[in-house]
Amino acid sequence: MEIRQNRMERSFAAHQIEYQTKALEVLASGKYILGEEVEAFEREFAAYNHAKYCVGLASGLDSLQLAVRTLGIGAGDEVLVQGNTFIASVMGISMNGATPVFVEPDEFYTIDASKLEAKITDKTKAIMVVHLFGQISDMCTIMDIAHKYHLKVVEDCAQAHGAELNGTKAGHFGDIGCFSFYPSKNCGGFGDGGAIITDHEEYARRIRMLRNYGSEVRYYNEEVGINSRLDELQAALLRIKLKYLDDANEQRRQICIRYLEHIDNEYIKLPSVRENHKTVWHQFVIRCKCRDALMDYLNAYGIDTIIHYPVPPHLSEAYAYLNLKEGSLPVTEQYAREVLSLPLYEGMTSEETDHVIETLNRFKNES
Ligand SMILES: *Cc1c(COP(=O)(O)O)cnc(C)c1O
Repeated sequence: MEIRQNRMERSFAAHQIEYQTKALEVLASGKYILGEEVEAFEREFAAYNHAKYCVGLASGLDSLQLAVRTLGIGAGDEVLVQGNTFIASVMGISMNGATPVFVEPDEFYTIDASKLEAKITDKTKAIMVVHLFGQISDMCTIMDIAHKYHLKVVEDCAQAHGAELNGTKAGHFGDIGCFSFYPSKNCGGFGDGGAIITDHEEYARRIRMLRNYGSEVRYYNEEVGINSRLDELQAALLRIKLKYLDDANEQRRQICIRYLEHIDNEYIKLPSVRENHKTVWHQFVIRCKCRDALMDYLNAYGIDTIIHYPVPPHLSEAYAYLNLKEGSLPVTEQYAREVLSLPLYEGMTSEETDHVIETLNRFKNES
């Protein structure tokens, strides 16, 4: 049996007629940029997250970049961010000229809130929180620290659409919540897309202006903006995706419960879930000291896995200028050596899940 790490076509197939009908409708409408579908999606996505405003954008990276810019953060400022994230979280900071300051993760793969205060200086302006792999960070502690030191909070929710803590959705704790609709995300589109949510009217207005060349009124430009518009086709299809998001997240949860209950191998460390948190299981990430051997072994049995992420941002060539050496973030670096994301997708069958479980349980470290 061949099992891929992700199969995005399964979620399309589950509602194919609805998607194709909608796509044709948009194609025939003659309206492709900033029309009714984008407006409707923004309304629906804001409502889903209990936020006042949503602005559709062209990507998750743009949402992060524009959020940091809108909060007035730039050259000379520092932003705290966890070491073990997808590099876009860090680029959203550095593209604005600000300096990313890395903080180690906790056992849940989110920022270790107990290590935040030690990294705060008079240059620190914000905390970029990443709800990695679908799990909300320790937001109670983080928001307390942010208030105490007057820091802004940007949430990178690219992997956490629908995740909740005490009834609050990912993205609605801090100043601005940033989302990606890249196809592999829990609420993934059929191409690139992104959005921000916020309760601050001024932030929403500014990002809406910046996404369209810094213009609110056509051909009148208030500042140098960018082109980062969610398009009508993506918005229309994302409205359907959003309608089924809770259902899709529930499917992921069922698969992960099966993994948690039945994977049993002394070499494998299963993911931990924070108490009272509703994770949306963007990835099911295990750890193994002999990760590369395990990955090869699974591959030999037709099971595809992915490493999220093999090179932590502070050691990537892109950030060599920060001069952070190997050993500077031991927990982050350990995770990069040991993590492995198992196959997980909407429409994954119990036969597929069981095949992964049985194969994992037979693994022995022979290296
Ligand atoms: C996917 C992702 C992004 C970037 O989103 P794009 O739409 O690909 O630009 C940012 N942060 C995290 C944590 C992500 O997983």
